[in-house]
Amino acid sequence: MAKVGKVYLVGAGPGDPGLLTLKGRQCLAEADLVLYDGLVNPLILRHSHANAERTARVSEGGQRRINQEEINQRLIEAALAGKTVVRLKGGDPFIFGRGSEEAAAVAAHGIPYEVVPGITAATAASEYAGISLTHRDMASAVAFVTGHEDPTKSESALQYGELAKFPGTLVFYMGLHRLPQITAALIEHGLAPTTPVAVISRGSTALQKTVTSTAERIAEAVADAHLKPPSLIIIGDCVSQRESINWFETLPLGGVSIGITRPEGHADNAIQRAFELGAHPVLMPTIEIHPVANTSHIDAAIDSLGNYDWIVFTSVNGIDAFLGRIWERGLDVRVLGNIQLAAIGPATAEHLQQFSLRADLVPDTYRAEALAEALKPHVSGKRVLWPKANRGRDILPNELTAAGAEFNEVVVYEHQDVESFPGEAMSLLKSGELNWIGLSSPSIARNVAHLLKDLDLASVKIAAISPVTEEAAVAAGLHVDAVATEHTWDGIFDVIVQHQQA
Ligand code: SAH
Repeated sequence: MAKVGKVYLVGAGPGDPGLLTLKGRQCLAEADLVLYDGLVNPLILRHSHANAERTARVSEGGQRRINQEEINQRLIEAALAGKTVVRLKGGDPFIFGRGSEEAAAVAAHGIPYEVVPGITAATAASEYAGISLTHRDMASAVAFVTGHEDPTKSESALQYGELAKFPGTLVFYMGLHRLPQITAALIEHGLAPTTPVAVISRGSTALQKTVTSTAERIAEAVADAHLKPPSLIIIGDCVSQRESINWFETLPLGGVSIGITRPEGHADNAIQRAFELGAHPVLMPTIEIHPVANTSHIDAAIDSLGNYDWIVFTSVNGIDAFLGRIWERGLDVRVLGNIQLAAIGPATAEHLQQFSLRADLVPDTYRAEALAEALKPHVSGKRVLWPKANRGRDILPNELTAAGAEFNEVVVYEHQDVESFPGEAMSLLKSGELNWIGLSSPSIARNVAHLLKDLDLASVKIAAISPVTEEAAVAAGLHVDAVATEHTWDGIFDVIVQHQQA
């Protein structure tokens, strides 16, 4: 029989993927299987290479409902089969999360398990909304309350009479749909109708929206604002602090969602930048990058490096694949000797730096034409190697051969088109909540146009990394609202900020 695995019940935090704990990330890195619930930000799954399954307890988007019993069963079966399983739950696994029931089910089978706490929605959403749940002048206690129960039902476990007199802040989870009943019941039992109330939707993500009012008026204000779940209700004087410390919603791109079209694994910097600006990054890779199956031609190029004068890198992937193969062969960058290196743009040049390599030539503008132009004076009678993808434009070989170079290409990685965008991107697009899409190359522009051809894109703005990409986007039928001056993802963000602030 297989050795029994282990189950980790991990809190994913409330929405901002940066609020996962280090221990939670470690568990994800070790997992063979991840079962995550609907509240978990999909960006968190990037910390795991495991198979990830979503456990939707309400059926949505064609996904089948799965009940708690089935989830428990799945955890137990996988662990008994020897797997390391991460059960990833929004916020904290035990706060209104049924995590303790899952722990009990696993424990009953003698399966080893650990619980990794997470940042619960109450603390995260309130702090991202500029509200401290306790305050020495305003609130000496805080209560987490479920709003799931109907306050008008006499068998409710909640005593609204007691809650109305609670000497501190009340935080209701799962109460958005019952907000009018909850506030009415509290007021009926003696809560001052003028007590400040905040409702925070999608707390700690850039889609966070906060509505504040008083206990007697909040239901109406929220109805007007069309807030989306998940939302929390915060009741108490401490809500007023928001007026002076509302730090998050005021970041430059607060409330703005941006589709990041870079391939997975190459989107980290763009995602990081989005968070710094308060934006909500949405993964929309249009291609997947695969290593080439047969590396003999790469090896042949590596073995003949002594004959080359220049290597031209036109992508970060080309660098990783080519230098990676050198390393795999048991060699290192010294095989490059005195070969000159050209990089198509700043990001490619910066990536070379990670290998302690300095680009000898980087054109002023990030485009193949400019790279060819800059190289021409240096390549007559010289041998040039281009580690590239399985497809790409012919500018470099044509121009440099014409300039007298002996030009050789070597395919070091492969592009494969994706068939669709991830669920989050599609649902935001359909609800008109995706504000921007960043396009970082002509082929990405064409792929985006193709993948979204059936959608009405009127509500989404598009930013292109360069005029060439803009041209390709327009030719493919997309509208372009902004073009970056610096042809990098940082440049895309800069132009979006300018646009938003205009
Ligand atoms: N275990 C979770 C709570 C699960 S109950 C935690 O510790 O946070 C689900 C409820 O949590 C939702 O109905 C909502 O009230 C609240 N919630 C979860 N994430 C939220 C978010 N990002 N913003 C506001 N409320 C959130």
